[in-house]
Amino acid sequence: VPELPEVETIRRQLEPLVVGRRIVQASIDDPRLTAPESPGTVAHRLVGERIAALDRHGKYLDVVFESGNHLLVHLRMTGSFRHTRRSESPDDPYTRAVVSLDDGSDVTYRDVRRFGTWKLMGSEEVTRYLGARLGPEPLGGGFTAGWLAAALARRRAAVKAALLDQRIVAGMGNIYADEALWSARINPLRPASSLSREELLRLVRAVRSVLRRGVARQGATLRDYRAPDGASGSMQDAFRVYGREGQPCPRCGAAIVHTVVAGRGTHYCPACQPWSLA
Ligand SMILES: [Zn+2]
Repeated sequence: VPELPEVETIRRQLEPLVVGRRIVQASIDDPRLTAPESPGTVAHRLVGERIAALDRHGKYLDVVFESGNHLLVHLRMTGSFRHTRRSESPDDPYTRAVVSLDDGSDVTYRDVRRFGTWKLMGSEEVTRYLGARLGPEPLGGGFTAGWLAAALARRRAAVKAALLDQRIVAGMGNIYADEALWSARINPLRPASSLSREELLRLVRAVRSVLRRGVARQGATLRDYRAPDGASGSMQDAFRVYGREGQPCPRCGAAIVHTVVAGRGTHYCPACQPWSLA
């Protein structure tokens, strides 16, 4: 499941390949991708658009066109992009859309589970849409201990569940939430509102640090995620707790445990992330 580092890796790879290019042809084969708009309508409207920028907001990719329109893409579970010469476009049953650019290249969208979305919007609509769904960017200036204290103040849910709320930390997902809580030595089951000021500061630093490491390693490759050049990321080799149930904690040697928080598999060290630690 792509989280912020994976989406940012895709953005960084695609940006120099697509910015300045014009779309000469588009085909979209999956009605779920563009619902409630029909795929034919969206494909038709994409043709002729020139790409001015490729931005990211949380886990959304934002293709900004010179016309002022935006294509807002969310990869959800298994969405991915490939960029190839037209003659080398992958022949793949999970291809849902192909966008042909004016330099002879194709951007192919693949999605096995088909939860991904493509939404064509005007600029005011994008601002409104994202404003209702996303809190501050964790690698930007708005994500501070003060913000987190206010956002978590009345939350009795587990801190792990709160971290997965995109309105609290845009782009955070299951893997990096586990890694950040381990790094900050905070038990994932603690009520979000119970964190001390010192713990909130540690958590802000930990979230930034694990996401930066994820970006530096070009994301984690689990199951279907691939970068647009087909390469894999290497963050999965640097996980401290995620997917390491029963293995020794890299900090203290205790066995990592697995539990379920808010329906999500959760990994932590019972020794250095105890329930009560101020
Ligand atoms: Zn430990």
